[in-house]
Amino acid sequence: MRAITLEPGQANSVRLDDLPEPEVPDGHALVQAMALGVCGTDIEIISGLYGWAPQGEDRLILGHESLGRVVRAPSGSDLAEGDLVVGIVRHPDPVPCPACAGGEWDMCRNGLYTEHGIKQVHGFGAERWTIEPDFAVKVDPALGALGVLLEPASVVAKAWDHTLRIGERSRTWKPRTVLITGAGPVGLLAALIGRQKDLEVHVLDQMTSGPKPQLVADLGATYHAEGPELIGKLKPDVILECTGADVLVMAAIVQAGIDSIVCLAGVSSGGRKVDFDVGSFNRSAVLGNDVVFGSVNANKSHYQAAAEALAAADKDWLDRLISRRVPLDRWREAFTRQPQDVKVVLDFEAKAAA
Ligand code: BGC
Repeated sequence: MRAITLEPGQANSVRLDDLPEPEVPDGHALVQAMALGVCGTDIEIISGLYGWAPQGEDRLILGHESLGRVVRAPSGSDLAEGDLVVGIVRHPDPVPCPACAGGEWDMCRNGLYTEHGIKQVHGFGAERWTIEPDFAVKVDPALGALGVLLEPASVVAKAWDHTLRIGERSRTWKPRTVLITGAGPVGLLAALIGRQKDLEVHVLDQMTSGPKPQLVADLGATYHAEGPELIGKLKPDVILECTGADVLVMAAIVQAGIDSIVCLAGVSSGGRKVDFDVGSFNRSAVLGNDVVFGSVNANKSHYQAAAEALAAADKDWLDRLISRRVPLDRWREAFTRQPQDVKVVLDFEAKAAA
């Protein structure tokens, strides 16, 4: 079978390999890949900046945003042949730490967790893959190919879940406005969930053309193509920072209003230094009861919340979020960014045009 593999740590070692069919461990399901979403983490791994191969192996099968169809389900599981499923990315650490033991592998405390296509477990960028039924989330058949959005939506569902639960520190806090920085797939899915919660949603991005402004408008949210000073003007109750861009992270932290919650959900690379007035930040954070926290990954409850959010969303809108579908034969194009990209998906079922 064909699979996208690379040597972690080696820039541009990515290639389309021909691998033996996967062995199906006892109790696992065999899944036929339908689609694979591409995200910034994949690009980072391809650049050699992130990622770990399974122990004893040199190469990692890439891909963590999956969608597939069950070919063979283990008896006694709640999976059946033909079910559409998405694989949960992270697996608990083997110790396990208290968080992993309680099913909150997204909050793993010792860093020994593993992640499909990222850290020590093969990913879903192969024509066939296997999964334990407990780590397969069924996708509503009505969602079909849009189910590939479930993993990024789960990451956003977690960010919202934690934001609102942190907000409960004050019995009277009720968010009204939210600012989402970045109109990439994560930002747009965060905006979708914000609108589903009936909040006033603002999205800040740089693009003035392409699909992003209209995607935001069609949610009933407001699109802003301006600088980070918008944060100080709006003083939103919640900021979901989805870019990892230093200027926006800094502005979110420094300009957030009183009683606000800033959730940092975009991963950045290190090494970008700026002047930072710690005293002023501390003063306004203390006097304003501000919260800044980070959020990564998702546990099963977040995949379920994400599945509900996608099921309640307008299907045409979700379809427009997928701005490019690339057949597996032309896989390299999927990992080459284009200016108008929102979500790019590798299509395992499409045939390349002759
Ligand atoms: C994935 C998360 C993962 C994180 C860090 C993200 O792209 O969506 O599931 O935890 O990368 O590896």
